[in-house]
Amino acid sequence: MAKASLFSIDTSDINLVRAQLAAFSKQVPLLYSVLSINALLSIVSFKQYAPAWLGMYLPLLVMTVSIVRSIVWLRGRHNILSDEQARRRLRGVVGIGGSLTAIVLVWFLGLFLVVDTPLLKIHVAYSLVATIISCMICLMHLRPAMIMVGAATVPLCAVLLLSGDSRLAIIGVNQLLVLVAAIYILAVASRDFDRMIRLASENARFANLDSLTELPNRRAFFEHVGDALRATQANRRPFAVAVLDIDGFKAINDLHGHVTGDRLLIEAGRRLQTVCGEGARIHRLGGDEFALTVSEARDPAAILKFGERICASIAQPFKLPGATANVSASVGFAIFPIAGESAELLYERADYALYFAKSHKRGQPVIFSEAHESDIRNQSTVEQALRNADLDQELSLNFQPLFDVDKGEPTAFEALARWRNPTLGWVAPNVFIPVAERTDLIFRITHTLLRKALAAARTWPDPIRISFNLSMRDIASADSIAEIRRIVRSSGLDPRRIEFEITESSLMADFTQALASVRTLRELGARISLDDFGTGYSSLSHVHRLPLDKIKVDRSFIVDIESRSSSRDILKTVIDLCSNLNIACVVEGTETARQTEIVRGLGCRSMQGYFFARPMPLGDIPGFLATKRPARIAESAPEPVSAGAPG
Ligand code: C2E
Ligand code: MG
Ligand code: MG
Repeated sequence: MAKASLFSIDTSDINLVRAQLAAFSKQVPLLYSVLSINALLSIVSFKQYAPAWLGMYLPLLVMTVSIVRSIVWLRGRHNILSDEQARRRLRGVVGIGGSLTAIVLVWFLGLFLVVDTPLLKIHVAYSLVATIISCMICLMHLRPAMIMVGAATVPLCAVLLLSGDSRLAIIGVNQLLVLVAAIYILAVASRDFDRMIRLASENARFANLDSLTELPNRRAFFEHVGDALRATQANRRPFAVAVLDIDGFKAINDLHGHVTGDRLLIEAGRRLQTVCGEGARIHRLGGDEFALTVSEARDPAAILKFGERICASIAQPFKLPGATANVSASVGFAIFPIAGESAELLYERADYALYFAKSHKRGQPVIFSEAHESDIRNQSTVEQALRNADLDQELSLNFQPLFDVDKGEPTAFEALARWRNPTLGWVAPNVFIPVAERTDLIFRITHTLLRKALAAARTWPDPIRISFNLSMRDIASADSIAEIRRIVRSSGLDPRRIEFEITESSLMADFTQALASVRTLRELGARISLDDFGTGYSSLSHVHRLPLDKIKVDRSFIVDIESRSSSRDILKTVIDLCSNLNIACVVEGTETARQTEIVRGLGCRSMQGYFFARPMPLGDIPGFLATKRPARIAESAPEPVSAGAPG
């Protein structure tokens, strides 16, 4: 860092430049008032003793410059300056200070020489020193300017010393001493001010830095977005904000420990910096979440390309001590001003685009669009309706059998939530459950539905079980699990007839809590099924480390099972895995007799799908159970769906 010399100004530290300008700004009215008033007093005092240019015009010039500078300052005092503008203004202040000092010097020196009585000379000398010391105090934080102004009295002191009049010489010595003392005291105060500002900016640097990756942190991100917004306010040049998170990071942390996880984050930060170059600034928000401000947000296509480069860089294997980790990154972008005009809104929308990427386009970039905007509006309508809903009244359940094809009979019914709102009508579970999951409404929904599901199951013949979906929020909450246990205990249903379905994503957030929840439910006597297996991470470590009773293989595994042998191979592998681990296996979504035959041929006898029955209301179950079916492949046609309610 360049050090400030005595007379030149150090503009390398922008925080210092801004602090000096801010401190000086407060003194500006005082400085120019002192100069103007002294100029006026000088006209009154010396007009008749000096030529017009000295007694009148020069002080008038000083007055005019002071008044004009005050007005310019007053007008521009709220302007937000860029770094370069701030530096220029500081240099300008020192330059103007120098010019004014030269004028003041000529003015007072001239007056001193033209007035002829010692009293008038003392008057001039006194006025000069008083003016100069006032100006020095006002300029104390701009050290070079302050010293320059102070030095302006030296010629006058010299003239006093050499005047041949002992009284004037003594005054000269006296003024010189006062001046040296003033310069020394003010210079020390100014140096301390600089040190304090440097220390404060060093503290601020640490407060804005993520200690692990040494990238700017969350706070710096919001500050930077704020700066970018201010800078673009005038020209409205678009820039973008991006939020990125690493898919699969939690599994690395769980499997290989936090030290390895930390290494991955540091390396990910480096890769992102390499990809971003000069065009974007990268920040770590916390955990595995990073954010970017993209200064050259030309057009959406270019942003998507940039996003793809980011995703590709994270998708490269991470070679870490003792492990090679394969993860991916999803990125959400929000472009100013289309997506929002405040830092918070841009962040929220980039975060929504990220959430959308994670659920629909994992490992890819997504730009916040108008479609997302209307999604958000719809979701907030759903959220409002849910908040005001009479859940007990409006929520109901349909039941879909899990079928044993060898016995030709159902072993359990899965409870599937249905919501009919007086205003919105029927709302599908994959619309309202995710909305409820983003708020605490999900807990009330789970508990209400569980009470209804257990009451329904009590009406079924003994071996038939109820399979109940838990939200990932339930699994992550010890309180919700405690309430679930209470509901099960007071239901009067044998807990061994209950299966809880959990999804892999519910294990990702906090595996330790998820494990504790699963253990609590198993201790009750209930069984645990891993739902939608194959759609999430399908991490074998979860299957291995969780006490699971059943795996429900997602429907996506069997959609093209009739036409593709590779799909059959994959399904066979999953079925064999379950059999080797002694875990029951259910294949979801069987819709045709052919699919059912193939799945059975691959070694799985338990299935759920429209081929056996669509989800049905409670009242249809006795009729369904009474229907006689042949063993092996059951041939029941889909059950009729009760009027009005979705299946
Ligand atoms: P899920 O738990 O995987 O439930 C199975 C979904 O697949 C049900 O959709 C069911 O109707 C549908 N399905 C079953 N067989 C077939 C088939 O042969 N073909 C096709 N195309 N679909 C089939 P539904 O009822 O719309 O539920 C959707 C999702 O909503 C559920 O997926 C579950 O994730 C969630 N959900 C439903 N009820 C609840 C609940 O009470 N609590 C929670 N947390 N989530 C629920
Ligand atoms: Mg389910
Ligand atoms: Mg499922």
